[in-house]
Amino acid sequence: MAVYSNNEVKSFLSGERDTFLFEEANRVQNEFCGDRIFIRGLLEFSSFCNKNCLYCGLRRDNREIVRYRLSREEILAAVSEIHSRGINTVVLQSGDDLSFSRKLICSIIGEIRKRYPGMAITLSVGERPMGDYQAFYDCGADRYLLKVETMNKKLYSFMHPGQSLSKRVMILEHLKKIGFQTGSGNIIGLPYQSENDLAEDIMFLSGFPLDMIGVGPFIAQEHTSFREEASPRVEKVRRFLALLRLTTKNAHIPATTALATLAGDQEQVQALIYGCNVLMVNFTPGKYREDYCIYDNKYTISLDKAVELTRKASRAVCFDRGDSLKPSLDIDGTG
Ligand code: SAH
Ligand code: SF4
Repeated sequence: MAVYSNNEVKSFLSGERDTFLFEEANRVQNEFCGDRIFIRGLLEFSSFCNKNCLYCGLRRDNREIVRYRLSREEILAAVSEIHSRGINTVVLQSGDDLSFSRKLICSIIGEIRKRYPGMAITLSVGERPMGDYQAFYDCGADRYLLKVETMNKKLYSFMHPGQSLSKRVMILEHLKKIGFQTGSGNIIGLPYQSENDLAEDIMFLSGFPLDMIGVGPFIAQEHTSFREEASPRVEKVRRFLALLRLTTKNAHIPATTALATLAGDQEQVQALIYGCNVLMVNFTPGKYREDYCIYDNKYTISLDKAVELTRKASRAVCFDRGDSLKPSLDIDGTG
């Protein structure tokens, strides 16, 4: 892994070395990830949440939104749809919703595993009772995504009432120890976040090490106290993503929905050239989709759109499971 000092990271993020940064990110992507863009099927199965993250529309105290939960059958039907389109990863995401008990989630994972043995299962269901993570792994989940959001301890505590950054990191370490392909990430442009905070985020995200890194710009949600807050400039997000490619070499980094919401899908095309190697296609049933309002005007893409964007970036759509690229790197002895 390329190791940069905090000051070097800051000079990249400030735009002083843009030409080198973007060329090098493209080169590193070609070398370590090839030209493949992995497609993931995303299913947002519950908008209930017991957390109160200040920036998020799903926060517990927001009474203005319609909440929904998919039934086990609805989830399995959506997974069947994902599978029938040839996609071999399902990402199950939700608010932190303990009504989905350990038993229920295990039974859903077990059923997916039974019906589609070759399919990878990624969970993005937030913080759970400690024993749940191992149980989910044991019944067949492969990957777990838990974003740290920011590595500034104070900002983290302010943004996440009742939560702590040290617990979040401890859970990530636990997930890794269990054997999950582990993902994390941050939000760029959170209110009160500084340039130094972003540099610290890069240092953490590239050093952990992580198999997948989800990064998105902050986007306001009308029913939160940050409704008037601006999103970051797209240049800032670009530099952050390119620098992550440079520092992590082979982590899976999606060109996120939040990036497309900020700057349009042509920015996703660019992102597939300056470092991102994953696209998420939304398979949440239409009648629920609007209600998963973590932020406003969420831009989602269809599978056809994902194929089109990939072609525009002169890259190749890949329907494989797309497991972590880390082990092969280690076998090479270069990890
Ligand atoms: N409840 C789970 C997963 C669902 S939230 C969890 O929090 O881990 C998924 C992601 O949405 C969060 O990790 C956060 O980074 C992102 N998010 C929430 N509100 C956002 C906003 N206003 N702008 C950008 N990203 C946001
Ligand atoms: Fe809940 Fe996740 Fe939104 Fe926080 S970010 S309020 S945990 S859905």
